[in-house]
Amino acid sequence: MEKLGWLQDGKGDIELIELNRYLKARGEAEVFDISFFYDVNQPIITETHQVLSKNLEEALRQEQVTEKFRIIWLMDDQLNAMALQTVLCEERLIFINFGCYFILMNFFQSLMASPTFATTIGNVGLDEMGPKIEVVSNATAVVTNRTGRISKCPTRYFFGGLLATTALHFLLFHELTHLVNGHEALDGLSSESTRQDYSTQNIKGHTLEMDADSGAVIKIFNQMFQGVFGRGGELRAGTPNIEHYYSVRDSLGIGIQSVCKILSIAMVGVFTLFNPRRLGKENMFNGSHPNAFLRQVMAGSVLSGHVKRYGGNGAAEEALSETHIAFRDIYSEIDFREQSKGVMESILEFINSDAFEYYNCRLNKCWRDELHSLLKQRKISKAKLAIPKGELNC
Ligand SMILES: [Zn+2]
Repeated sequence: MEKLGWLQDGKGDIELIELNRYLKARGEAEVFDISFFYDVNQPIITETHQVLSKNLEEALRQEQVTEKFRIIWLMDDQLNAMALQTVLCEERLIFINFGCYFILMNFFQSLMASPTFATTIGNVGLDEMGPKIEVVSNATAVVTNRTGRISKCPTRYFFGGLLATTALHFLLFHELTHLVNGHEALDGLSSESTRQDYSTQNIKGHTLEMDADSGAVIKIFNQMFQGVFGRGGELRAGTPNIEHYYSVRDSLGIGIQSVCKILSIAMVGVFTLFNPRRLGKENMFNGSHPNAFLRQVMAGSVLSGHVKRYGGNGAAEEALSETHIAFRDIYSEIDFREQSKGVMESILEFINSDAFEYYNCRLNKCWRDELHSLLKQRKISKAKLAIPKGELNC
């Protein structure tokens, strides 16, 4: 049987055919042997793979996880990712679809090409107004009509790439959290697009997704805060594109606020692409995943709560306002297709209604009564789980 050779060292230790059979039986795309890309010298995915792998290792080190993990790229154009812990191999696997790279890059470069978006960064005078970005949702896949539009300002172009990379890390760390927090039992495939949609399971599913998002936000913040925009603020000689880092830093500064700004835009951007749909009391528990807008609201409050420990109430409030700004700015650049018309109106109505409170209460209750103690036993990370709330009347 053919051995897997995903990585440059070619040390695949599970059978490619066996894994593909496993994935196919679950309706997933097949694994593609990434060593092909080394052979034909395709730097896009291999470099991205190296950056993601390095930061994955860093996240595991920070949370004192000793188990082995591996990133695998799926030959699929969807904005999708999944996590797998299987008896087929020792390593825990994080699958990322090739589509993620291109969709995210296209989306964030299109945003940065608009002179009305994130106007404090670089020189918006170099770009011209164009049509709005068309978001076409199909399960989790999205395309835009501004293919190939990039900013003529090098700083803005650089920032677009930085946002796309941060968003990719969001997907990676979301899947990582599913695995390190023990969301799936052994041989559970946690796919973002094909998980069974049984309504009784939905509340639990939504709660786990919120936990995965929350883990992703904290992991990214912790790494970025130690990087060039954070507490350290040091640019090491030999950093690629050092002059672009400097010009972005001239726009954003160093510290909590700049990290929150980058993370907020990346995070809100990802959620914008996750099938925005109308939201109401009647459908709030629908789907295997929470409505993307609710995920964004929760992720914003997690970020705010997390930065409070570094910068107090002021930083917490600023972080929250960065997510609001990102939301307003991104949505004003987008033209949602017919099926998503009225999404914003329904969302605003929802968050001001009792239904929103009820939704939060049900998820909190599920966390407290069903998930917290179970995950506490299962998790392999030293990072703490969110503390469950006490009295809940819902
Ligand atoms: Zn998930």
